Amino acid sequence: AKAAGKDRAVVYEAALRETRLRRLAVVERLRTALVTDEITVHYQPIVTLRTGCVDAVEALVRWQSTPPDAFIPAAEDSGLIVPLGDRVLRAACRAAAPWHDRHGTSVTVNVSPRQLREPDFAVMVRRALLDSGLPATALILEITEGVLVGSALAIAHLHELRQDGVRVAVDDFGTGYSSLAYLRDLPIDILKIDRSFLRSGPASRPMVRSVVDLAHGLGLVTVTEGVETAAQAAMLVELGCDKGQGWHFGRPSPAGQMSALLENRTGA
Ligand code: C2E
Ligand code: CA
Ligand code: CA
Ligand code: CA
Repeated sequence: AKAAGKDRAVVYEAALRETRLRRLAVVERLRTALVTDEITVHYQPIVTLRTGCVDAVEALVRWQSTPPDAFIPAAEDSGLIVPLGDRVLRAACRAAAPWHDRHGTSVTVNVSPRQLREPDFAVMVRRALLDSGLPATALILEITEGVLVGSALAIAHLHELRQDGVRVAVDDFGTGYSSLAYLRDLPIDILKIDRSFLRSGPASRPMVRSVVDLAHGLGLVTVTEGVETAAQAAMLVELGCDKGQGWHFGRPSPAGQMSALLENRTGA
């Protein structure tokens, strides 16, 4: 049994080493991709459920055919997420400026914990806004639950940016450990309910209902992610959820395609 345990330890160590090497290789290729401009951004519509109008778009990074979940963690570990995130933010603000002018559309951008802990994060955001001409009130930053626990600097950045009019959304709500009571004390405006809530079918109804009600009680706007069917959209309207995002309303697509979609799917 002892020998088997040792074998297992050896196998585990080898696997760990391989993961580390693979990550290093990804980071190297990603570093090159940043220089050669292979990083692009796609946009996915977020609609007001009662009207079906597109109210905002989420910026999602794209690197050839590698899914973000396969390189974002390595980018975070290596710190490369800082220049990468800045690239996405700038591209998103630039793309969204004319959309905002024409249709009043907002843009929502994912921010990793590592970026929020940069001393000049708020400066970088302000610079992206100024350079693009997008008003602060049209920008939403998406953070994940837990990022703010114990990081005074991250909280200070968000307070500062919110004074400019930038909004803050908590992403993937329901996948972490935090409670709505904890959200009450944080500088946030929007709650994005994770798509795992919808996966449980009709059984998700009471859960979504209580999250929406509590979020509204805290003055937060609610967005449910992963809306794939008309039935799910109808259920969310009935439960009073404000907004929805998912394949039912539109897949992530390049900026050019999003421009065309916005011509047809906005109130203005
Ligand atoms: P996320 O922020 O939760 O983004 C939503 C993800 O759900 C996207 O995956 C989107 O394509 C996918 N999705 C949208 N609608 C549906 C649906 O109806 N059904 C299903 N099954 N999936 C749907 P994507 O683009 O692969 O991104 C994965 C994750 O990578 C994102 O999850 C986010 O955490 C991260 N990510 C993407 N772009 C960035 C970025 O620029 N910066 C950072 N820090 N993270 C990013
Ligand atoms: Ca997100
Ligand atoms: Ca999400
Ligand atoms: Ca996510």
